[in-house]
Amino acid sequence: MPKTGEKMESLTQSESLFDIYKSLFDFNPDACYAIDLDGRFRLFNEAASRITGLSQEEAVGSPFSSLIPKDQLPGTVSFFQRVLQGERGQFDTAIRGKDGSRLTLSLTAVPVYADGEVCGVVGTARDVTEKNRITLLLNEQNRVLEMIANSHPLQEVLEQILQIVEQVSDQNICSIMLADEDHESLWMAGSRNLPEAYSSLIDGIAIGRNIGSCSTAAHDKRVVVASDIAKDSQWPVYREQALECGLRACWSAPILDSGGDVLGVFAIYHSRPHVPTETDMHVIEKTAHLASLAIRHYRAEEHIKFMAFYDPLTGLPNKRLFSQRVAEAVGRCRTKENDTLAVLYIDLDRFKLINDTLGHSAGDSLLQQVAKRVAGCIRKTDIASRHSGDEFTVLLEHTSKEAAGLVAKRILTELANPFDVEDNEIFITPSIGISMYPPDGETPEDLLRKADMAMYQVKKEGKNSFHFYDETLSSRTFDRLQIENELRKAIGADQFSLVFQPIVDLTTGKLAGAEALLRWEHPEMGNIPPDRFIPVAEETGLIIPIGEWVLQTACRELREWQKAGAETFTIAVNLSLRQFYQPDLTEMIGRILEEAGISPEKLTIEITESMTMNVKKATSILYRLKHSGVKISVDDFGTGYSSLSYLKEFPIDYLKIDRSFIRDIALSNGNKNIAATIITMAHNLGMKVIAEGVETSEQLSFLKQQNSDEAQGYLFSKPLTGLEFNMLLGNGQQEAN
Ligand code: C2E
Ligand code: MG
Ligand code: MG
Repeated sequence: MPKTGEKMESLTQSESLFDIYKSLFDFNPDACYAIDLDGRFRLFNEAASRITGLSQEEAVGSPFSSLIPKDQLPGTVSFFQRVLQGERGQFDTAIRGKDGSRLTLSLTAVPVYADGEVCGVVGTARDVTEKNRITLLLNEQNRVLEMIANSHPLQEVLEQILQIVEQVSDQNICSIMLADEDHESLWMAGSRNLPEAYSSLIDGIAIGRNIGSCSTAAHDKRVVVASDIAKDSQWPVYREQALECGLRACWSAPILDSGGDVLGVFAIYHSRPHVPTETDMHVIEKTAHLASLAIRHYRAEEHIKFMAFYDPLTGLPNKRLFSQRVAEAVGRCRTKENDTLAVLYIDLDRFKLINDTLGHSAGDSLLQQVAKRVAGCIRKTDIASRHSGDEFTVLLEHTSKEAAGLVAKRILTELANPFDVEDNEIFITPSIGISMYPPDGETPEDLLRKADMAMYQVKKEGKNSFHFYDETLSSRTFDRLQIENELRKAIGADQFSLVFQPIVDLTTGKLAGAEALLRWEHPEMGNIPPDRFIPVAEETGLIIPIGEWVLQTACRELREWQKAGAETFTIAVNLSLRQFYQPDLTEMIGRILEEAGISPEKLTIEITESMTMNVKKATSILYRLKHSGVKISVDDFGTGYSSLSYLKEFPIDYLKIDRSFIRDIALSNGNKNIAATIITMAHNLGMKVIAEGVETSEQLSFLKQQNSDEAQGYLFSKPLTGLEFNMLLGNGQQEAN
């Protein structure tokens, strides 16, 4: 046996060396080739056949240029020319395989010498297609991220993603579709090279199984591969059209958000049947992820914008956006002759109470329904917004006073239909104020303020209506001055008087007492209603002496009735905010009671919810009053802002349900529920209930049925003068019903 050293020696003999080189060439795992001076293959190993799909017989003798795609040819030719001049080198190029697919090859080449002259090129080639695609994708991905960071529009970012993928996936056609908010359909967001006919055909396609790869991918939230559309069972619907457009394969990947919801679908189409490689799958997943990052970023941005300018509960613009739009509209209006715009200020009457009695989620649901109805009353070009709480505003462009009035009427009619709120039938009414540009103001603030003033006027006049702002509303300021001047003289001039409205005990049906109501008879202006002068008296502080006079006169009157035999009667006196916060309130009341000879429990002080806004201070005042022995009643309950729950903090004896609730009892079960809930809750809190403004026997029987304790209203009697009241007592008409 030859020894190892001998073997090596025979191997390096020249014939054996040739065999070694030949083996190295033939069995090299990399493609090996030799090209002659004409550019024709002279040698072609097995690996080269595998990569190119050409047999050795086919390859040998054919020019290398037949394999190279046009765009790569000049570069590749000049590379080989350099090698022929003696250089050694490495170069990346592409080839078209026999099946038409494009591959990226990394070439090495060295010159071959015969008798000292270059006679050809020999080299290796490695298929780096897959590796390059991933590298390219990763590099390009950074460019997309940069675009996102620089706030390029989403559309551009998606187009860029498509371009990259088309580049790395052999010029195939790609598309991105976005899912709608309800995840029901897909909408084309980018499809640069997809045939237009096909792209518009599938725009808006439903998400679901067996409609196509994209619909299924969105539905199942997984990659769906149709490697041959002609034979794929998931393509019953669009198969023919896809084939007609030259699409034979479609791979679709869902684009998901971080919570796993579908944002859209990314798809790659091929013009021939095609099964994805591992790298293809990698590219698909990476692209879907990149698209998800982009879409999520823009959705978050949209969301932030939405939050800044829209009301999340109703989806309507908020007051910020509304003011902007009014300012813009005023700008437009200014440039057109005879153009006007209107601002409507809508406040829901008694909304707070619905919140309190039926709960916040019911309140929210009602606001959402109101928002929808209001928005349904205007043109697409107009704007409805939620101003705050239960206040909505509307901007009408290119309108007139008449048209704005019609819109207000439409809103009143629409809102008059009952609302279904958590199985309660609810009736709600709005008060609407309207201001117009140009006559009423120039700025959004001006127009809103004046519409608000007009709205307030509606509230005063009994709600559920609309009112235009007009000069008389602000000339009431002048009126106000006049009232103020006249008020100062009124006390001394004996122009005030009291009337008394009977209050009936519903359990016995007998008169329980009366509420004292102030009247002002001016020698020239006539009878001025309290709603008109009490706010002025309040503002000017004149209410302090006037209020004291009311208390004094009411207590004296009660003393007279007691003398006439009505010993159990009580008298209720309305207190104003300013009086309520007078430091000597309790002392003043105590003094008056003593002077009149009335025991404190016979006097009921009526306060309103607005007085209790400062809970801490109100609590201490109310306890001082309570300790002095007088009764305390909350007037007009349901129209203010307090909630039933914190009323329990206060020592309150009576709740007077505002007459607007009583009025609406007959309207629906929902309104009945509200009244019933107030009564039950008040009873639970240990308070008695007085129903105000009872006008019909239907209302009365419902209130009796709900165990309301007392009632007052025109059904029993209008407010009476002292004389009339005395006559009533004298007639022994203490049985009210
Ligand atoms: P209020 O305290 O809620 O008084 C009840 C009001 O409802 C009275 O209006 C009364 O005339 C009216 N009313 C009573 N029954 C019915 C009915 O069945 N149907 C209708 N539609 N209305 C009814 P008035 O006298 O005009 O008083 C208005 C408000 O002025 C009072 O509301 C009260 O807040 C205030 N006020 C009256 N007198 C005084 C006072 O001496 N001091 C203070 N601070 N405020 C007073
Ligand atoms: Mg009252
Ligand atoms: Mg009242």
